[in-house]
Amino acid sequence: MLSKNQLEYREKIRAFAEEKIAPQAVSLDLQQRFPTEYLKPLAEMGLMSMIIPEEYGGRPVDTVCYSIAVEELSRVCGSTGITIAAHNSLGAFPIYRFGNEDQKKKYLPKAAAGELLAFGLTEPDAGSDAGGTKTFAKRDGDQWIINGSKCFITSASHAMATISTARTSDDPKDPTITCFILEKGMPGYSAGKKENKLGLRGSDTSSLHFDDLKATDEHLLGKVGEGFKQMLITLDGGRISIGAMALGLAQGALDCALKYATEHRQNGKPIAYGQGVQFSLADMATEIEAARLLIYEASMLKDSGQPFSRLSAMAKLYASEVGTRVAAAALGILLENGQYTGPYPAERIWRDVKLCEIGEGTSEIQRLVIGRDLLKSLK
Ligand SMILES: Cc1cc2nc3c(=O)[nH]c(=O)nc-3n(C[C@H](O)[C@H](O)[C@H](O)COP(=O)(O)OP(=O)(O)OC[C@H]3O[C@@H](n4cnc5c(N)ncnc54)[C@H](O)[C@@H]3O)c2cc1C
Repeated sequence: MLSKNQLEYREKIRAFAEEKIAPQAVSLDLQQRFPTEYLKPLAEMGLMSMIIPEEYGGRPVDTVCYSIAVEELSRVCGSTGITIAAHNSLGAFPIYRFGNEDQKKKYLPKAAAGELLAFGLTEPDAGSDAGGTKTFAKRDGDQWIINGSKCFITSASHAMATISTARTSDDPKDPTITCFILEKGMPGYSAGKKENKLGLRGSDTSSLHFDDLKATDEHLLGKVGEGFKQMLITLDGGRISIGAMALGLAQGALDCALKYATEHRQNGKPIAYGQGVQFSLADMATEIEAARLLIYEASMLKDSGQPFSRLSAMAKLYASEVGTRVAAAALGILLENGQYTGPYPAERIWRDVKLCEIGEGTSEIQRLVIGRDLLKSLK
């Protein structure tokens, strides 16, 4: 199904991930350390600019290759997977798609060279209900004065800038939302304490605070009032990459369960020869393959320029729930001999993969997106 180029791309990214990323994955998780030293090699591999055109210093690839890259990175390190997925899909994409020429020239070459971008949508009272955004940008002469807080923002403390949503109407009942590109270093912009997370502990997740932050129209992304639509379009693409992340984590769990089941012996032979273990491995492999097909189909649909919202929601929903099931099943195989911790990454994957059912819309929200689209097609 994949082209020769796509297969070769997978080999290249897999070799890079295994050589450069995998050796640190355990310690990043244990130390909750964000690996700033990865950013240069990731950029040199083109992994920070998969969505950025060459004219802005990027190394663009099709969406199938982008999914493969996130899958392969996540297979060895979920924290690296989410950092790359958020930077490309949620940071670089909206600037490329909705930004003006000056903004593209200003941010995209730096992003391609390894400077992170973040996406600030979620707030304490605005997660699934993004329309509940309370961050407010008040017009004051030719400036905007922005006040508010964002939470759970990937790469918030390290990113050079965050694409942030804010309400821009004085009328509290008017939900008009606008996106701004807000830069680290602007007076009033600060990142809060890093979250102590269940999983993806090598990724940076923090709150962001805007205190009387003064922005100008140069910081506006697109036009006033276009933010909600921009955000929905951005999330449609982003969901494919979260699905790819779940797929990679699930594959990592299966690889680990297979290795353990063939190395570990009971009653004189590897436990993989027991039918119970084999059935579990077979179910894991089957579900992973089905998830992979959905992710690649959604990617191909996006590449062909056709509507892909329903399929990206399906791919993210299915792959993330498969990820959770497969990680639990892998842990079940390793647990048979008390391998709760140790050299096998199953328990880290089990903790990491849960995010895929939450970020960029929970599973319930994906079901709403799919259900509404099904009903729309009946009209
Ligand atoms: C590690 C991590 C990284 C993240 N990175 C980012 C980032 O970079 N940028 C960003 O903006 N956000 C980010 N998020 C936030 C994430 O997108 C939100 O957590 C997610 O959208 C859910 O929002 P919430 O946490 O407020 O939960 P809620 O929306 O409060 O949901 C709580 C529960 O209620 C259910 N629920 C809510 N509304 C409905 C409904 N209408 N119908 C059915 N069920 C419903 C949900 O499915 C869920 O089970 C990140 C989160 C994590 C954990």
